[in-house]
Amino acid sequence: MSLQVQSQVSLKPFNSFGVDVQARFFAEAHSDADVREALAYGLERKVPVLVIGGGSNLLLTADIDSLVLRMATRGSRVLSDEGGKVVVEAEAGEPWHPFVQHTLSMGLSGLENLSLIPGTVGAAPMQNIGAYGVEIKDVFAGLTALDRQTGELRDFTLQECNFAYRDSLFKQEPGRWLILRVRFALDRAAHLHLEYGPVRQRLTEQGIEHPTASDVSQAICSIRNEKLPDPAVLGNAGSFFKNPLVSAALAARLKGEYPDLVAYAQPDGQMKLAAGWLIERAGWKGFREADAGVHKLQALVLVNYGGATGLQLLNLAQRIQKDISERFHVDLEMEPNRY
Ligand code: FAD
Ligand code: NAP
Repeated sequence: MSLQVQSQVSLKPFNSFGVDVQARFFAEAHSDADVREALAYGLERKVPVLVIGGGSNLLLTADIDSLVLRMATRGSRVLSDEGGKVVVEAEAGEPWHPFVQHTLSMGLSGLENLSLIPGTVGAAPMQNIGAYGVEIKDVFAGLTALDRQTGELRDFTLQECNFAYRDSLFKQEPGRWLILRVRFALDRAAHLHLEYGPVRQRLTEQGIEHPTASDVSQAICSIRNEKLPDPAVLGNAGSFFKNPLVSAALAARLKGEYPDLVAYAQPDGQMKLAAGWLIERAGWKGFREADAGVHKLQALVLVNYGGATGLQLLNLAQRIQKDISERFHVDLEMEPNRY
């Protein structure tokens, strides 16, 4: 019996918004056995089990009448190393960015564009994390999850995960799959993605003509540090809304009205609009009411100045959604997982 279950625990240190709600029960899983013990604990007491990682994609709007299980399993290993392709597996509780740095220190390329994303390895497939033109689906080699309906372990291939823009099977079937470990196909030779946003420009400014994967990681860390609030200083959950996909016709109409509209063509003919541009254009950037606000430098990020409740943040988000819908006829979808 290694699982330590505590009662009435504040989740403030365990969500990056820093929202202060109580969990009825709280425990950390350091092994698969802890995970199974926690699920049995929940079943026995008829208490739901909510699995979390780093809490960097959560909006907690009320006390959680559940056993909150924080994944704290650690470790990673090389599973195969052939022809320049290296498959690395990591436990769900591994913190994401240190894991990325670990793979870079092994001379492996693939995760550099995903540097400095908060959270854990196990949560990364949930919304197919992405940044600077790379998503984990691009380097995904499989994962092992526990089916909470049957108690059985299942290995998933890329195709079985239904990965899409900030979406996956695991997000579509909430609460069913508990991800235990994830595998990544990385490269000894660097295949770098530099054409997205200001990445190449930052490397050029640094005088780097022929970057390594580590150079790209460092450039992305410096860009992110300039633009994004550090949750340890100012509570936030990163981008609060997904970038909306709209028809080419609507994008063209908006472009006629707003020539500086930021829009990117998608392979399926739709257009992806920068939600941050819409919110900024509507005048919300830097807005603050009580302790809930819109970040001064990045309008896509809602922030907690200290004492905001989840409901205050939700209310602000809903006001922004309504305003954007009325002004631009575009529906914004929230990205964080709401409980
Ligand atoms: P949590 O917030 O703890 O959980 C998220 C969801 O996953 C919850 O529904 C939870 O129940 C579920 N979950 C967690 N672990 C497991 C598991 N092992 N098995 C099953 N379900 C699980 N995201 C991006 O995609 N790209 C970015 O560039 C990016 N930048 C960010 C920057 C900042 C400053 C912040 C605060 C967030 C950013 N995010 C970004 C969002 C967030 O970091 C990612 O979504 C991250 O993967 C969440 O990991 P987590 O461990 O914190 O998950
Ligand atoms: P940015 O560089 O200011 O760009 C604004 C938006 O335009 C981004 O959201 C991005 O969409 C899109 N974009 C930029 N260049 C593009 C290109 N060449 N092709 C297609 N789309 C392009 O964005 P940012 O806010 O500073 O974020 C930089 C990256 O980190 C983005 O990929 C963003 O998604 C990611 N990020 C995510 C979160 C989160 O919580 N989800 C938080 C911070 C940063 P995409 O978002 O679709 O890439």
